Amino acid sequence: MSDLELKAAEKFIPPESQGGARSSGAAEKPKAHADSDVVIEFRDVSKEYAGKVEAVTDANFKIHIGEFISIVGPSGAGKSTLIRLLTAEEEPSKGEILVAGRNISHLKKRELPFYRRKVGVIFQDFKLLPKKTIYENVAFALEVSDATDEEIAEKVPKIIQIVGLTSRIQAMTEELSGGEKQRVSIARALVHNPKLLIADEPTGNLDPVSTWEIIELLFKINKQGTIVILATHDKEVVDTLQKRVISMKEGKIVSDEEKGKYKL
Ligand code: ADP
Repeated sequence: MSDLELKAAEKFIPPESQGGARSSGAAEKPKAHADSDVVIEFRDVSKEYAGKVEAVTDANFKIHIGEFISIVGPSGAGKSTLIRLLTAEEEPSKGEILVAGRNISHLKKRELPFYRRKVGVIFQDFKLLPKKTIYENVAFALEVSDATDEEIAEKVPKIIQIVGLTSRIQAMTEELSGGEKQRVSIARALVHNPKLLIADEPTGNLDPVSTWEIIELLFKINKQGTIVILATHDKEVVDTLQKRVISMKEGKIVSDEEKGKYKL
């Protein structure tokens, strides 16, 4: 990566939205967003899988610094495809996805790991290593990115504290409740200070109390300057959030509203 490209990639979100935005509350932005605040832009994006299933059709939207967005829609609507397009696991068949002004389809192979670290993803089924402790699960995400032992020893306890699991840091992951497991997966997603956190049905396996604890944690992370995208079926969560809602149906974005509701 050239110095210039590296600089562009590092500016995934302009610096003022990180630490600096904490005190002013990045999530409490007014409804109208400045063009300079655009971080992600989908321009006429379609995705057709082999077999001619058009999973996403002509998606157009912009995501701005500090936003918390829910993506809703019935099963098969195209939510997961949209997420995989954003993480660059899939390429659009048509259109462009710009992140910090760069077309992510043009990222070079060696740039992809860097990009993916800046996009944390958590899933309904956690995807943790069950026979490892909480500490080991979080440390593992750093080990695979060549962090030094010192960095790991310093960073892991801090991140586990953010997700409220310090007292269980040496507990085996398979012994944890669903809510605790999801906290571990959030911790793991946070180790690279992502600019964007994507949560794909994160509360699908959780009871109502754990669900709200996880949503509150996502809120806290959002307030600290990370964009959060929440794909969910949970009508109650979406309606209570009073945040932007993008609704999908049969691959199309059928509504996109600030302070939206789940209305499919
Ligand atoms: P959602 O996440 O809203 O349930 P998906 O993005 O998973 O929706 O699926 C959208 C459509 O694309 C569905 O018709 C699904 O069967 C199809 N689809 C998803 N992934 C693939 C794939 N890898 N290959 C072919 N078709 C797929």
